[in-house]
Amino acid sequence: MSNETTKIDPNCSITKRHIREAKAVGLTLLGSGKDRKYRTYHINKCEHIQQFQVGHVKENNFRCSRCLDMKLSKEAKAQNLSLLTTPPGSKLKSQRLYRFNECEHEQVISPANVRKGKDFKCNECFEIKLNKEAKDAGLRLIGKANNKNANYRQYEILKCLHRQDITTSNARTGGYYCSQCQVIKHAKEASAGGLTLVEEGKDSNYRVFSFNECGHIQEIHLSAVRDGNFVCNTCEETSRDLPSEVYMLKIVVGSFSYLKLGYTNNLIYRIKRYKLPESASLSRVKILKFKKGRDAHQFESFLHIKYKANVIDQVAMQRFHPGSGSTECYPLDMLDTLMDELELKETQLKSSSDHRIVQ
Ligand SMILES: [Zn+2]
Ligand SMILES: [Zn+2]
Ligand SMILES: [Zn+2]
Ligand SMILES: [Zn+2]
Repeated sequence: MSNETTKIDPNCSITKRHIREAKAVGLTLLGSGKDRKYRTYHINKCEHIQQFQVGHVKENNFRCSRCLDMKLSKEAKAQNLSLLTTPPGSKLKSQRLYRFNECEHEQVISPANVRKGKDFKCNECFEIKLNKEAKDAGLRLIGKANNKNANYRQYEILKCLHRQDITTSNARTGGYYCSQCQVIKHAKEASAGGLTLVEEGKDSNYRVFSFNECGHIQEIHLSAVRDGNFVCNTCEETSRDLPSEVYMLKIVVGSFSYLKLGYTNNLIYRIKRYKLPESASLSRVKILKFKKGRDAHQFESFLHIKYKANVIDQVAMQRFHPGSGSTECYPLDMLDTLMDELELKETQLKSSSDHRIVQ
């Protein structure tokens, strides 16, 4: 019997009532409890001795905590866990403290989950695993994700030191990309094409840009921006029926010479927009006149696609073309090839206009 138990007066009418109430629910009243509300009882079924509140006994609302612990211990063992004694003053209610037998880490888990054998894992071991997976995938695990989704964590991408929320499974497989680097890359590609990013597009493949040259706004596919394969539709529309030129220029900056191909209805204005270095000298190698802008554009696109592989990297050309025109620059050794194309076209244009005159 517990030390706290003191004798009670069996002749007291209240005590007599408590004895009766205990008997009715399979208990035997042994003595007083830790305070006025409690009494010490012998549980007839399991032979354990325990304190309960008198009110709870009356309502048959009590359970043997030692039997419960034994049951939880057994359930824990089945999951390779050990049930630990709840630390005094602990605020654990429906949860208990367990130790994983394998790794010896301790963790608070709900007994219901232990019973089901699911919805729990060793969090410490899991963090160790995530750290290792992150390292293997070029990442550093920072901590909780900002987006609050349980599948995400915040990582630092070691290559660029940008931080980003990534799913743990993508971190494991390396299936991620740096969205900040991507924004920077898209901005570079845009500026190389004479564009400025304005806002998001209709989906992740599109963005809205403004043309540096004319200020018109247009939604363009990112891959078209990357390849420089776009025109301003508004300008295109208005210049479609105006006479235009396809031109080939030779530009010399210091010791570097290159060819610049393009089409325009105002060559002088176009060249100004390149913002070439002051030291640059420029000669017009070939000018082909078209009656309609649309034909000039069509021919220029044809050359652009045909000789895409020969073009000088537009990012590299930006140092000479900070304004525009960094696309469609060719090395000097393309002179004969491009000249042949332009002269062939010139012949075709001439014969078709001769033909028209004959008509
Ligand atoms: Zn018991
Ligand atoms: Zn562990
Ligand atoms: Zn980055
Ligand atoms: Zn425009």
